Amino acid sequence: MKVLDQRNLPEDRPSTMDESGRRVFVFPAAVSGFWRHARTVVEIFLIIFFLVLPWIKIGGHQALLLDIGNRRFSTFGLTFWAHDAPLIFFLLAFLAIGLAFITAVWGRVWCGWACPQTVFIDGVFRRLEYWIIGSHIQQRNLAKAPWNPGKFVKLSFLWSLFVIVSLVIAHSFLAYFVGADRLVEMTQHNPGENWTIFVVMAFTTAVILFDFGWFREQFCIIMCPYGRFQSVLMDDDSLTVSYDPVRGEPRRGSAGKGQKEGDCINCYKCIDVCPTGIDIRRGLQLECIGCTACIDICDEVMQKIDEPKGLIRYATGSSLKGIATKWLRPRVAIYSVLLVAVVGALLFSVSKREDIVVTVLRAKDNPYQVVSNGDEGEDVINHFKMHMKNQSFDDLKLRVALPADWLAKNVEIISQNKTVELEAGKNVTLHFFVKFPKEIMGSEGMKNITVDFINLKDNEILIEEDVKLVGPKSI
Ligand code: SF4
Ligand code: SF4
Repeated sequence: MKVLDQRNLPEDRPSTMDESGRRVFVFPAAVSGFWRHARTVVEIFLIIFFLVLPWIKIGGHQALLLDIGNRRFSTFGLTFWAHDAPLIFFLLAFLAIGLAFITAVWGRVWCGWACPQTVFIDGVFRRLEYWIIGSHIQQRNLAKAPWNPGKFVKLSFLWSLFVIVSLVIAHSFLAYFVGADRLVEMTQHNPGENWTIFVVMAFTTAVILFDFGWFREQFCIIMCPYGRFQSVLMDDDSLTVSYDPVRGEPRRGSAGKGQKEGDCINCYKCIDVCPTGIDIRRGLQLECIGCTACIDICDEVMQKIDEPKGLIRYATGSSLKGIATKWLRPRVAIYSVLLVAVVGALLFSVSKREDIVVTVLRAKDNPYQVVSNGDEGEDVINHFKMHMKNQSFDDLKLRVALPADWLAKNVEIISQNKTVELEAGKNVTLHFFVKFPKEIMGSEGMKNITVDFINLKDNEILIEEDVKLVGPKSI
């Protein structure tokens, strides 16, 4: 196994790769300090949030459910289906533009603080390694050592814990897609009864184990598309973890004759702690995930040599050159405007969205029919076609009815079905007739009435729909 040589990092390739393209392993040292503590708090919060969120219900539905199989989605009380294309589009646009905005202003803050890859590797997997194997030096020594019983026991224990953690993450992850309640129910049955989910679960666990346990930051360096995009999303005014060369250079041992040395004592500790194995002193690099470890360790070094902290710090490229940072600049303004527009469109779509959409149209036959009602006179019949779409997550049973004042005037609804059964996410079309005494038409030959749709679950009116009746003028 090849391990990183902090003092001889290559110039022409990622330091986690040797000249033949093989993996060079990095064993970053643990750090403490202000940013380490802040990140620990954020990681604990995010991990708890990730594990708990599938169990939270809003309005009787899982707070965040992405049920791709049934093409239904629930996000914090807002439920929508695959056919709600504008909502999905605005939501995705919000996430994409939001990330672009954050990157333009705060650089790779997502990577260092909130990306699940970093949060789980740094917050769980690497901590287990420090706990079971020891410091980065002990880890490196164990990796290089030949196999013996001690190494076997330590690594078996470590990887058993990795498997358990991966299983927990995979179950929680899948709960977002199949629903937490359904997942619990499935775990109580034989895997053979839910083969597909079982295979997906096993595959997800294996991917997590491989990625978080072994592949690690190689994913950020080689595979992550966002890492590639950052160079176009950021500029000299974006905030990044940066080394201050004005203050640091010439570093110890590199000053020319008569030249005063800078504050960097060339201790290599910033490389020691870097999970991607880079030297931040070479400037902003694609491999930097903004984890802040080098800030903390360098601050510790500066304290020891009695120099002010901040040789490595959050800074913009402009501020390092002594130029004032422009927070409001064209790209930030454009992202802000787009973000406001997308949020506005999203809120507008949500406010206009109804759980039950009803369309009542006059059927394509005669506008009305006059029929005899025996000795008392004549009735008029209007034929309507009704289309209903249930966009909620609940199955509904509705009764079509008329308000009491119209019933008192002998207006009645004639329908094939007494009730309408409307499954969640489904449409239904049905025909109904309204029969009424000819006299109520009056001199205009038309009358507006209201048709009620009563939810049989609670006997409350769910929808009121205006319907225009037509017939012969009665005066
Ligand atoms: S930790 Fe600070 S002092 Fe040490 S090499 Fe890195 S930048 Fe220089
Ligand atoms: S250079 Fe510093 S901030 Fe960037 S990944 Fe390495 S340790 Fe983290």
